[in-house]
Amino acid sequence: MNKIDLHTHSNFSDGTFSPKELLEYAKVKDLIAVALTDHDTIEGLEEGEYIANNLGIEFINGVELSIGVDSKEYHMLGLMFNRKCVGLQKTLDILQAQRKDRNMEMVSLFRKNNVNINYEDLESTAKGGIITRAHFSELLIKNNYAKNSKESFDKYLSINSKTYIKRSMFDAKLAIETIHNAGGISILAHPYRYNLNSTEIEELIIKLKKMGLGGIEAIYSSHKPSEEAFLKRLAKKYNLKISGGSDFHGLNKPDIDLGDGFGNLNVPSDVLKILKE
Ligand code: AMP
Ligand code: MN
Ligand code: MN
Ligand code: MN
Repeated sequence: MNKIDLHTHSNFSDGTFSPKELLEYAKVKDLIAVALTDHDTIEGLEEGEYIANNLGIEFINGVELSIGVDSKEYHMLGLMFNRKCVGLQKTLDILQAQRKDRNMEMVSLFRKNNVNINYEDLESTAKGGIITRAHFSELLIKNNYAKNSKESFDKYLSINSKTYIKRSMFDAKLAIETIHNAGGISILAHPYRYNLNSTEIEELIIKLKKMGLGGIEAIYSSHKPSEEAFLKRLAKKYNLKISGGSDFHGLNKPDIDLGDGFGNLNVPSDVLKILKE
């Protein structure tokens, strides 16, 4: 039925599938197009595109950036950009360096709090990919500081934990411009995951639209039908495109399946057709 998925993670960030495994799985799931949208990195795209081409799946360049608006963090997807764009690559280098600084600071904070983890083990947990709190969680579980990811986040990694350090936030306008200058489209990811009510979501979208936002991720694993419908109405009202994806993370989010989300996700291929117009 021509399904697609425009929000997925590989082991180049906090997913567990390699780009090759992800695309091979997309073939099994009968998807006709997939965007790989790792956090703050485009390193997996070349492998993804190569495998997708061999399998006859349309491959979409993607990335998921953490952005700041009024000192709160939101996620912005970049889709369909030219990954050779030097401006984009330079921006990602800066974001990755900021991440590394923050992660190293967090490790020393953990050690001060008698949780003996080290940066080298964190690096091996991430297997060379972007290190996120998901990898901290994995390492804490491995070293018996937590039983599962819920406990590791509740105890150590959530915003209110004393071992949590906020990442420096990337200016939203700059993020949108960087994506557009690379020929891509900027999409506000999962608008219902920021603890905002409908009015606040609309206000956020108005703000981002003024900065040049291109679209909203209206179709998403955890969206209720009413939420999807509301976001589609907002898209129409503010002349924004819509996107859709599962936010697949492999075994790191085992309940979310590629293309299917929690079971009834359906991103039709028309979404991509319109995004390209
Ligand atoms: P970071 O970008 O380093 O702040 O880490 C964010 C990542 O941590 C997200 O992409 C998720 O994979 C993971 N994460 C954040 N909050 C939770 C949570 N409550 N439970 C499980 N994983 C989470
Ligand atoms: Mn993630
Ligand atoms: Mn996200
Ligand atoms: Mn994501």
